[in-house]
Order: sequence, then C-alpha cells, then structure tokens
Amino acid sequence: NKASIGVTGLAVMGRNLARNLARHGHTVALHNRSTERTRDLVERFGSEGTFLPTSSAREFVDALERPRQIVIMVKAGEPTDAVIEEFAPLLEPGDVLVDAGNAHFADTRRREAALRERGLHFVGTGVSGGEEGALHGPSIMPGGSKESYASLGPLFEDIAAKVDGTPCCTHVGPDGAGHFVKMVHNGIEYSDMQLIAESFDLLRGALGYEPAQIADVFRTWNTGRLDSYLIEITAEVLAHTDAETGRPFVDVVADQAEQKGTGRWTVQIGLDLGIPITGIAEATFARSLSGHTGLRAAAEGLAGPRRAPLSGAAAERFADDVERALYASKVVAYAQGFNQIQAGSAEYGWNVDLGAVASIWRGGCIIRAKFLDDIRAAYEAEPALPTLLTSGDFRKAVEDAQDSWRSVISTAVRLGIPTPGFSTALAYYDGLRAERLPAALVQGQRDYFGAHTYRRVDRAGTFHTEWATEGRPEHPA
Ligand code: NDP
Repeated sequence: NKASIGVTGLAVMGRNLARNLARHGHTVALHNRSTERTRDLVERFGSEGTFLPTSSAREFVDALERPRQIVIMVKAGEPTDAVIEEFAPLLEPGDVLVDAGNAHFADTRRREAALRERGLHFVGTGVSGGEEGALHGPSIMPGGSKESYASLGPLFEDIAAKVDGTPCCTHVGPDGAGHFVKMVHNGIEYSDMQLIAESFDLLRGALGYEPAQIADVFRTWNTGRLDSYLIEITAEVLAHTDAETGRPFVDVVADQAEQKGTGRWTVQIGLDLGIPITGIAEATFARSLSGHTGLRAAAEGLAGPRRAPLSGAAAERFADDVERALYASKVVAYAQGFNQIQAGSAEYGWNVDLGAVASIWRGGCIIRAKFLDDIRAAYEAEPALPTLLTSGDFRKAVEDAQDSWRSVISTAVRLGIPTPGFSTALAYYDGLRAERLPAALVQGQRDYFGAHTYRRVDRAGTFHTEWATEGRPEHPA
C-alpha cells in the first residue's frame, strides 16, 4: 500500500494540507527536514486518515505510487530550491513535483524549465486561505503542464473549497501561471483591505463612530453586494475589545502594517508589464507609509484642516455614500488586477481563463466574495472584456455610485482624512473615461527637451517640432 500523494514541509500549511488530503480518503506520505514535525502530525492527527510517515527522502519517494506526486510546502526561496535538489535526483520521468509555497512566478518558470529538461513535471501552485483554508478547503491555483493536471487535478479538486458544488481549483495555465495568479490575488487582497480600512477611518473621522458601531455598519454591508470574507472579519476585529485594557482592540494595535512581499511583487510586475494597478500600488505604499515611524514622527504637527464631524443630512447619508464609494473602488481594484492577469497571460502565452480565475476565488481564499460570481459571469459572457468597468452590471453600479464616490472623497479631502485607495480608484475611472488626457502636453514637453517626437490626431506619422526656431511665439509656424 503506497501513497497517492506525499507532502514535504509539515509546518502549519503543509500539515493542514496533508490532513485535508487524508480526511478525503487519500493515503498521504509525510516528510519533513526535521522528523519531529512528522512524528507530531501522526501522534496528534494520525486517526484522521491514512498517513505513511517517513524519515528520509529515499523512504519518502519509495512510499509513493507512480507517477509520484510530491507537494513541497516549505519556506519560499532558497529552501524550495534545496528541497527540489534533494528530491529531483530520486525521481523518474513523469513524476510530479508541486511547489505550493508562495514562490515568485519567475522562479517557478526557471524551475519548471530546468525540471522539464530532466523529464519531470514541476507544478507551481498558488494556495490561498491560510492555515484554516489548507485544512478545510483552500482556493488552489495550479500552473504546470496539462499532463500533470490530469493526475493532480482530481486530488486538488477534491480538497479545494466548493461553491455551488464547483471546486475552487482549476488548471490556471502552464509553468508560472498559477503563482502569477496567486500573486495578483494577494495584490488585490492588499487593495481590498486598504479600501475597507479607509472606510473605517472615514466613518470614524467624519461621523465620530466608535469601532463597535462601525462593526455594525460592516455587518449590515455584509448582507448586501459587499458580502465577503474580508468584510466579515473586519466586523469581528472592530467589535473585539482588548481584554487587558478594555479598550477597542483596534486602538491598542500599533498602526504600522507589515507585509511579506507579494504586494510588492505585484506592483513591480505591474510596472514591468505597463499595467496601471494603481489600487494595489497605493495599498502597498500605504503600508510602507504606516511603517515609517521616524518620518511620521518628524511630520507630526504639520497643519491640517480643523476637523468637525459631519452633521445633519450629510451625516445621515454618509455611511451609505461610503458603501457606494467602497463598492466602486473595489470594482476598480479588481478590474486592474484582472487586467494584470490578462497582460501576464499574453506576455507569457498562458491563455488564462479569467472567468475560471474569478470562479476559483469565490471560495476558500482571502478575497472570497459574492462579488466574484458577478466577475465570473462577466468574463464568461465576454472572455476578452477590456475592463470590468464596461461590463453591464458593473458599469451601471459604478455609474450609480459615482456621486457618492466623489462626495466621500471631497469630504475626506476637506477633513484631512487620507484615502489613497478611494482617490486613486476614482482618478483611474476618470482617467479611463476622459475624452482627452493631458498626456498630449506631456508628449509636447518630451518633444521639447528630448526630441522624443509625437503623433498627431489629424494624420499618421511621427513628428518633431524644431522648438528652437518653430517653437518661438515670434516665429509662427
Ligand atoms: P514556513 O514558511 O514557516 O516554513 C517552514 C517549513 O519549511 C518547515 O517544514 C521547515 O522545515 C521547512 N524548511 C525551511 N527551510 C528548509 C530547508 N532549507 N530545507 C528543507 N526544509 C526547509 O511554513 P508555512 O507552513 O507557514 O508556509 C509554507 C509555505 O506556504 C510558504 O512558502 C508560505 O509562503 C506558503 N503559504 C503560507 C500561508 C500561510 O498562511 N502561512 C498561506 C499560503 C501560502 P523544518 O521543520 O525542518 O524547519
């Protein structure tokens, strides 16, 4: 009796993924660099299914049915390369190595190409949902070859989250496609979290609400179109009281947001591909700004407007306005993220199905939301949709929200409440729909100082103005 799959790297994620597989009736071979983790898993959870614990790479590989399927769940970066080098020499052509850690997609492309030369399938897989997701059903985003998905897919679909019976797992595309999509997922997650945080700050700053009251507002929103995991947990965090001080939990937490790097990758790749993912970028920079304690201390006392909370009709309307602004900004953030996936897919020839991506994000992952079903429907109706903003229902929702959106941002500006996420989302919307952009002037400036040339609206070709002569006002053209 051999195992249909093996997991190496049994920290929180690997352990829970292995348990999830075993709970679904699959025999799982176990391996970890230090054997204590393997022993611990079997001692505590051995009764949940059939595990084959092993204490060496050789023993692990021998415990697996052929073609072997090995899920690597170790610290991303060099440890992943070390583990690949440990196992690859023991494997045979057709075996499948899966990296389910948070690898950079470029590393995945490199590893896939190298292992393909050696006859092995290498599958970079995004896994989202944290440790709870890994145990109860994550969203799984595998890349790699079609052949590898034929054997791996059924196992992964079995343990993935389900929405309306559909597994939150699909073959995203070749080589690094899975990790790329996971990266953008995390970027969107940054953006979504920032927008929700700004909504909280606005409700507090403009209405003077307490965190517990704001928790109620979020709970109400969570019954409507904003229904999502992130809104749900936000309400819980805001309602939480610090046991030690009796103060709202959110007021005793240091206001410096940390990051592990996937948001930064998303922004870097957005720049490389030339895709304006401004919502993700602002969210990432907002975390950086929060962390610059020295800079913030130096800026303390810089003058701002006098803050008087809203009152009367404006106050009554405000929470609804924020809901609309949040929704519209969120549509922009997702529109940008999906455009980035579209661009990555074109650049690397992945042929990613955006509707399928939206579908597997509906459950299991951190950005799971009702809203993603609408995105799925939009891309299913029009796979080459240029932007979600022009798709039927989204278009109408954002157009209907725009007065509120503008009013909320005006209020924020007037009260001096920073809303980088809301503001950049609206600027993107206005930028896209503008008939003429001042980019024309930028082209003129570039031509003036650098002879970079420009194109004209009235005829084809490339033009340059001799600014030293033709450009002078006393020298009409
Ligand atoms: P960690 O990232 O903390 O990694 C610990 C595991 O890596 C241990 O099993 C450890 O073995 C092993 N390891 C580290 N270095 C080496 C090495 N040089 N050779 C062999 N094994 C090594 O574990 P997590 O479970 O938190 O995450 C695993 C992966 O999943 C990471 O890539 C992470 O980014 C990703 N991920 C994590 C999520 C989360 O919510 N935590 C969510 C989604 C993805 P040992 O016990 O011997 O030290």
